[in-house]
Amino acid sequence: MDSHAAEADEKTGATHSGAGNGSARAAVATPEVEKQSFAETALKLGGKSEEEARRTGAIDKADDQVEALFAPQYQTVNSPAHRAVWDDQVPVELFQGAPAKTPPEVAKVMEASLAVVRKHREAGTVLDPAGRSIAKNVLDELGDAGYWGLLVSRDYGGSGAPFSSFASFLTRMSVVDPTISGMASVHGCIGAVDPVRSFGNAEQKQRFLPRLASGERLSAFALTEPNAGSDLTALRTRAELDGNEYVVNGEKLFITNLGPGRTIGLVCLVEKRPAVLIVDLPAEENEHFRCKPYGLYALKHASNQGFVLKDFRVPKENMLKPVKGDGLTIAYHGLNLGRVALCAGASGTMRLMMASMLPWARYRKTYGQQIVSRELVQRRLGRMAGLIVACDALVEWCASLIDQGYRSEMECVIAKIFGSESQKEAAIELMMKTHGGRSFLHGHLFGDNVHDYLAPCIYEGEGEMLGMAFFKSLVKHHGTQFFEPIGKALAAAGIKKPNMANPAHMWALRGPLAAYSKWYVAQKFHRAAWTSLPPMSETLRKHAEFAAEWLGRARMEVSGTMRNHQLALADRQCRMSELSRRVQDAIIMLCTALYASRQNDPVVEGAADCICQDITRGLLSERPSDRYFRTVTKLGAAIADGQFKSIAGLPEGEILMPYKNE
Ligand SMILES: Cc1cc2nc3c(=O)[nH]c(=O)nc-3n(C[C@H](O)[C@H](O)[C@H](O)COP(=O)(O)OP(=O)(O)OC[C@H]3O[C@@H](n4cnc5c(N)ncnc54)[C@H](O)[C@@H]3O)c2cc1C
Repeated sequence: MDSHAAEADEKTGATHSGAGNGSARAAVATPEVEKQSFAETALKLGGKSEEEARRTGAIDKADDQVEALFAPQYQTVNSPAHRAVWDDQVPVELFQGAPAKTPPEVAKVMEASLAVVRKHREAGTVLDPAGRSIAKNVLDELGDAGYWGLLVSRDYGGSGAPFSSFASFLTRMSVVDPTISGMASVHGCIGAVDPVRSFGNAEQKQRFLPRLASGERLSAFALTEPNAGSDLTALRTRAELDGNEYVVNGEKLFITNLGPGRTIGLVCLVEKRPAVLIVDLPAEENEHFRCKPYGLYALKHASNQGFVLKDFRVPKENMLKPVKGDGLTIAYHGLNLGRVALCAGASGTMRLMMASMLPWARYRKTYGQQIVSRELVQRRLGRMAGLIVACDALVEWCASLIDQGYRSEMECVIAKIFGSESQKEAAIELMMKTHGGRSFLHGHLFGDNVHDYLAPCIYEGEGEMLGMAFFKSLVKHHGTQFFEPIGKALAAAGIKKPNMANPAHMWALRGPLAAYSKWYVAQKFHRAAWTSLPPMSETLRKHAEFAAEWLGRARMEVSGTMRNHQLALADRQCRMSELSRRVQDAIIMLCTALYASRQNDPVVEGAADCICQDITRGLLSERPSDRYFRTVTKLGAAIADGQFKSIAGLPEGEILMPYKNE
């Protein structure tokens, strides 16, 4: 079972992360604090407030509960990203995704759904007549095609698509209509579908899933509140049991796909603990349910609104009860899927951007030459191809881990951060600059959608916050193994500030320090190693080996960072964020090299080579060489020549404000 931890760590700001809270986990062993989580006690030792320690501790416990949902081999310590850093050998085979095996009946639903959207796009009828939202008849026709039931099992009227098929399909749908692709992710991953199919009892599945599968009820995920975004321990929406019903009061903000008649996964507090209620919103607003629309630039056609519930009654049978964990466990379960879906969407959206760049770059002449023949423009095309290929690699890899049953939270965080950052870079650095002033015209792909290109950096977890959450998951086990005993020994001896020159302190710490020293010395003599690489070109092999070697050496730096900052590590956000970024980059590089080597396509291989060179330079803090510039511009020229199959057949954008070329 895949899952998401519920986290919003006050210290590292792990909103929407579901990642571990393991940094600075030295804990004290006095009886009263033994019941507290490591993070709680570490924060207290660090002089933080009771309130902060309590909230962080609650999140920490939720994370442990989520881990327990998984068989040991699929828990975080056994996930590829974690093992790459801490195992004696980087397990290369775990970074190999596999192409989705889509059952024929699922493929049929997908083709039918694409046909519906293509038909309406060609007719100009995707949006309602007011141009505000996706038209109701489009949503209904998609329902008839089976679009909304892709992730619902056949028993409940869906088609039970494997997640890897669903994720790669979203890339294809994004190329046709990114908003409709995003709505499938909201509905199926973070909305009501995933909570009910993963945590619902038989009666709840029977009651909700068929209507969600048919699209009779579209769904949304309602977590964020005016006062609770990054800090989910600040949730205020409450549900109180009154007879056979919960009475709900509260306000939600920024909810995508929200409107009367929708079914939402509502995260609220029941007896002060987070819970998820599946709520059928009424067909019309009333005194108990009011939407709160506002002007929002991003996702403007996806009905993103706030809403207020006042004494709103929900049958008590609508409460989901996970075997372990609480409402945040459920809420974050779907976010794992949503993050991969986001990366898949980014990959499709960047294909659209690239397809829009080419006609303009061929059309526009400056100083007597088409700009497509210029190095700067070719470099942009080459870089964008690299981003697309790396996103494809991450989507295939993460989705296959989810299908295998991994928790794969660290891996999905990588996909989310990389997908959203790539889309942002592609939009601004690559597309906007190539289109020049016309980028800002009404009707231009960039101008009309720029907010949609940026918003994924924020929703489903702001990237830097997630990066810190990734780091915490990475260090949790190591901290528990070696640093927590040191903290306990310090507390037992009543030492607040350890001084290694003080023999009494050294004596108090002799046991845990000896254990850590043993590990440290063993690492000093350990050479980075990895399991064997599959057959691949020399170029990609070098990249894969570089990434594997970097990862194989990273544990000393990670452990050293924990050692240097000790209890203050939770406050060293910049350091955590920076180191997290580099570990993620090395993983992206390994994955991309392996993925590209399986594609048997020289342009994909060239794109992977370029992005891997970019990452290498970042990891080594180097400047680009002339050789690199030759490689990336040659790749750009090949793309301009129509050799990148990923964008073959995409509609070429209209040239705005055309003029007569001499
Ligand atoms: C287009 C769009 C669609 C959305 N869809 C949904 C949806 O469907 N359902 C839903 O529930 N929510 C949704 N959201 C909400 C989204 O998930 C939140 O906006 C996001 O989690 C950030 O919360 P916030 O906006 O309250 O940021 P804040 O909590 O105000 O944080 C702002 C920034 O402060 C920094 N920060 C905060 N805390 C810390 C800390 N401890 N340490 C360091 N830095 C910190 C971070 O950089 C953070 O991004 C959507 C948002 C948008 C824009």
